[in-house]
Amino acid sequence: METKEFKAESKRLLEMMINSIYSQREVFLRELISNASDAIDKIYYKALTDDTINFEKDNYFIKITADKEKRTLTISDTGIGMTKEELESNLGTIAKSGSLAFKKENDSKDGHDIIGQFGVGFYAAFMVADEVTVITKSLNSDTAYKWISKGADGYTIEETEKSAIGTDIILTIKENTEEDQYDEYLEEYRLKSIIKKYSDFIRYPIKMEVTSS
Ligand code: ADP
Ligand code: MG
Repeated sequence: METKEFKAESKRLLEMMINSIYSQREVFLRELISNASDAIDKIYYKALTDDTINFEKDNYFIKITADKEKRTLTISDTGIGMTKEELESNLGTIAKSGSLAFKKENDSKDGHDIIGQFGVGFYAAFMVADEVTVITKSLNSDTAYKWISKGADGYTIEETEKSAIGTDIILTIKENTEEDQYDEYLEEYRLKSIIKKYSDFIRYPIKMEVTSS
């Protein structure tokens, strides 16, 4: 008798997952905001035991910026950021939930709760975006990195400039088709209602800016 592991075609799996795991497209924003919040929580936790970090609540927030001309929606946070290695292991491994591991280690210290747990949330971005760019600078690195992916085909990583610690997730929103509407994800009222619906409980301020030029 032999025991064998299943092989999987990761490209096909990613496509299937992106298109079937979520019943509603709008939840991509909930996933990205929860990741941003988790990233800020990580600095908060670190500050509890590390005297060199002073957690000033006012410096920690999530910012959503929509640019209708460029068709970009950016979710920025002032959280812990990612090193190059973390970018590769966290965004390059599908269904590996970093949050789940973190949650097990830190479970409900003072009621704070890490939200992600399935390790697929980030990829929900591809339900509404042709391309996702992640610009990030870790608390533990002097170098910032830019990660770019169009989804199933993989990703590129290069060094970039970013002054503040934290992460910007930049989505290039898909064009409308006859069946599918995506323009709404660049509209302030629509973004506000999605945030209200799913992210009302987020402990950090969510700021928003919408421009059309
Ligand atoms: P999960 O949140 O369940 O771990 P995700 O697919 O949502 O799964 O995210 C994968 C991992 O990528 C996270 O665990 C985290 O380590 C990293 N990550 C995603 N977004 C951010 C962010 N804004 N800042 C720092 N790390 C992030
Ligand atoms: Mg998540």
